[in-house]
Amino acid sequence: MRIVLLGAPGSGKGTQAGLLLEQLGLTHISTGALLRNAVKAGSELGLRAKAILDRGELVSDRVMLGLIEERLQGDDVAGGFILDGYPRNLAQAASLETLLEKLGKPIDVAIQIDVDSELVIRRIAKRAKEEDRSDDTEKTVRKRMKVYQEQTAPVAGYYAERGLLTRVLGDGNKDEVLQRILSVISVGSSSGLQPD
Ligand code: AMP
Repeated sequence: MRIVLLGAPGSGKGTQAGLLLEQLGLTHISTGALLRNAVKAGSELGLRAKAILDRGELVSDRVMLGLIEERLQGDDVAGGFILDGYPRNLAQAASLETLLEKLGKPIDVAIQIDVDSELVIRRIAKRAKEEDRSDDTEKTVRKRMKVYQEQTAPVAGYYAERGLLTRVLGDGNKDEVLQRILSVISVGSSSGLQPD
């Protein structure tokens, strides 16, 4: 099964992706994690990306497409994957569709996790302490929320137009949210996968 997870920063995308992997045996592809690893490794990409991440802005579509294209060639994606953090705007959604068509691996479902912004801000502040993320300062978080509203929120419409979008409420604890996701994908997909 091939899933795109959508939701604001702090909506619980990463947590849910982790739980879904355990349940469904999929590969997690987080473009944010790929970029943070590149920053840690001090690669050329990392050096260029760090300032952009720290400002809460988006890395260029061209760079991201190269990164995701390379990642999607990996042997570990053959059994299905969860994309977390990509696509981030309409241009990326269109590029991804073309790329996955070429690879014969179209998206089965896009899941939007809906949360209210107060909850998101509280979660991000907590995560900043736990994970020591340099892009989780208050100023950057505000910027990332703005970028999300302006550029990423319309991506849900892109998938809705293709009949691929399903939305779940992201409030409550992580297991409750997971159960909501599992119930929508086992009903809404043609994979035949059962959650347990
Ligand atoms: P995330 O962990 O998904 O919240 O991503 C952290 C940061 O990485 C974002 O604020 C962006 O600066 C960058 N990033 C992650 N994914 C993308 C993407 N698909 N396009 C552009 N920038 C991205």
